[in-house]
Amino acid sequence: MDFRLTPHQVELKTTARALTEIVMQYEQECEENNGLPPQAHDAVRAAVLDSGLQAVNMPAEWGGAGLTIFEQAVVQEELGRLTGALWDMVWRPANALRFCTPEQRERFLVPVIKGERRDCYAVTERGAGSDPQNLATTATRTDGGWLINGEKWFVTVGDHADFVILLAAAGEEKAPTLFLVDKDTPGITMTRVPRFMHTFVYEHPEFTFTDVLVPEDAVLGGVGNGYDITRSWFTEERLMIAARTIGAAERALELARDWAVQREQFGALIASFQLIQGMLADSAADIAVHRAYTHQVAWEASQPDADRKTLHAKAAIAKLSASEASGRVIDRCVQIFGGRGYDRSYPVERLYRELRVDRIWEGTSEIQRLIIANELIKRGTGVLQLPSAD
Ligand SMILES: Cc1cc2nc3c(=O)[nH]c(=O)nc-3n(C[C@H](O)[C@H](O)[C@H](O)COP(=O)(O)OP(=O)(O)OC[C@H]3O[C@@H](n4cnc5c(N)ncnc54)[C@H](O)[C@@H]3O)c2cc1C
Repeated sequence: MDFRLTPHQVELKTTARALTEIVMQYEQECEENNGLPPQAHDAVRAAVLDSGLQAVNMPAEWGGAGLTIFEQAVVQEELGRLTGALWDMVWRPANALRFCTPEQRERFLVPVIKGERRDCYAVTERGAGSDPQNLATTATRTDGGWLINGEKWFVTVGDHADFVILLAAAGEEKAPTLFLVDKDTPGITMTRVPRFMHTFVYEHPEFTFTDVLVPEDAVLGGVGNGYDITRSWFTEERLMIAARTIGAAERALELARDWAVQREQFGALIASFQLIQGMLADSAADIAVHRAYTHQVAWEASQPDADRKTLHAKAAIAKLSASEASGRVIDRCVQIFGGRGYDRSYPVERLYRELRVDRIWEGTSEIQRLIIANELIKRGTGVLQLPSAD
């Protein structure tokens, strides 16, 4: 076994860190104004294109960076250091767009890869959260296409996106189906833009769709395949969340460590107090262990012969445990900073608010536990094993 990063992976990590440092300059502005002005978006877009880290999950022949899942995790770990969710400005098109027809690819995916358009993914509804099968949005066949009616909640980047990848129950058989819907299509209203706990460079608005007419070729990946396509990228998305939370936790620990070796109370550095040392040590252990496991599973997911079912459960373990461990780390780091850790101008405070959602989106911690338990019950404890070479 060789756990070292290859020279190419080291270079990627260095490039991702350099891009992260550039984007980091906008953190304070984003926090203060709850977002960034168009000039900042343009500047970051140029920096992303310059770094070559646009659309890391898309093949190079379509204009993406064409990275393996392991390499993507290396990049996401660096970007995860950013507050204000500025990591999301380094666009990764929804993997579902891989199911585009050649015509759809030219119209929707390629412009997203180039950073000219932006997608958002709308599955969740008022009554369909952890259970997306409880879908109420419908698509009814009509002359020349489909009429879409319903509402969608928590649509990340919905304010900024040009088109929506929307899950609806299609036809009389209510077949779960994805549609590519331009956001300026008549009948689409952005009804509410809630303020969430974190400061996020984009919003997560709610939309209503009232008799929205889309053409026949708006269907993405075939009628009835909406859940399967959505589920098929959970493994990757959850691994990327695990990677980002570890990057965030590492930044927080670096800051807390640096603070602990300079802050004095009772005539001594707080780093000399064993209660502080315990928090630093527990945080280092949380980060080291979860990084190793996330790297292992991301590496496995990059192998062409990987067993997808076991990987699904392993990605659930990574997402569950890394997001919960990072939550513990950031809580300790806020504590080490004392009152300053509660001040929004300190990155640890922002990371504290931002890491919380990683235990909710892309399947809550409870849903990850159900996936893991289901794998154990159905197929035994093989999920705990490393794959062997033969
Ligand atoms: C900031 C943010 C951004 C988001 N972005 C998007 C997006 O871009 N697109 C999109 O489609 N969605 C998005 N979501 C939605 C997100 O995926 C859902 O919030 C999440 O899946 C949980 O659904 P819910 O909020 O309806 O909670 P519910 O499903 O109502 O869950 C409530 C509680 O019940 C628990 N629970 C539910 N079922 C079970 C069960 N079977 N066993 C045990 N416990 C259970 C949950 O774990 C949770 O603790 C976003 C959410 C947030 C907060």
